[in-house]
Order: sequence, then C-alpha cells, then structure tokens
Amino acid sequence: MQGAVDYSLIALQPDPDSEGFWAAAREHRLVVRACADCGRRWYPPAPLCPRCRSFDLEWHEAEGRGVIASYVVVAHAVLPAFREAAPYVVALVELPDCANEDGEPVRLAGLLLDGEEAAGVGATVEVAWEEAPDGAYTVPAWRALGADGEVWRLDADLGRAEASA
Ligand SMILES: [Zn+2]
Repeated sequence: MQGAVDYSLIALQPDPDSEGFWAAAREHRLVVRACADCGRRWYPPAPLCPRCRSFDLEWHEAEGRGVIASYVVVAHAVLPAFREAAPYVVALVELPDCANEDGEPVRLAGLLLDGEEAAGVGATVEVAWEEAPDGAYTVPAWRALGADGEVWRLDADLGRAEASA
C-alpha cells in the first residue's frame, strides 16, 4: 500500500530554467520547454534548444494525459519525505500531445499515486496535482486511467515482464 509523501520535508528551489515550469504547476498547468525557432519540445527544461541551440524558448502546455513508458517500484525510501510513501511507484510518462515531428517523445517522471497495482508499461495516466503544505509549491503526479491496449508489468516473483490485456 502506497502512502503519502511528506512534502513539508522537501524545500523546492526553482532555478531560472525551471521556474516557469513550477509557476505553471501552481496553476495546475503542465508545461514542457519548446523552441520558438525550430519548434523542438523537451523536458526537463534546459537553457537552450537541444536541436538548434536557440535561446529563444517558450512553454508548450500539455493536455496532461500520457502513457507509461517505464516505471520503477521504490521499496526503500532514501529521503525522509518518502518514508511513509514506500513502496511507491515512479512512472516515466510519455506525453503524446508533446511529441516532436521526428517522433522523439517528451517524457516526464513522476509519482504514480495509485501504486504498484495500477503500474504497467502502456497504461494511460492523467496528471494529478500534489500540494505542498502552506501552498509552498505544487507537484505534478499521475493517476491511472487504465489501458487502451496491452500493458506490461514487472512480475517481481519471476523477475520478468508479462503482458496483460
Ligand atoms: Zn530549436
């Protein structure tokens, strides 16, 4: 059973590259970096375009739905803030509406709030907003919506992945 993260133990300190991301999250908007010159999109935010090296950047707002590309179940929390949450799932989520024209995906990692039972490669998720105490900051996490097709899950007992409909 996945517990709650104690966000009071985490101090968020945005840098110039990420402060726009966190400001949007506070408004419950999920954004990724986009290049104003060539249109490239990526995450996490970086100071220049990874394709054309332009510094003319903007934010692209994602609809907030994605597909789990990979995930990990964290059994031993390293940070005290995650002690009660463990075992918890961190999902790497691909955002189809942010994909680049050449097929290069934009992926964003976050907590899967539904726990290990809902985790699976190929499962669809939507963004859910976790609020730190006293409105200190807002963190995007993920809620499972189910699956349109085949989903792959790690079978911890067998140590291999298995597909299910
Ligand atoms: Zn560019």
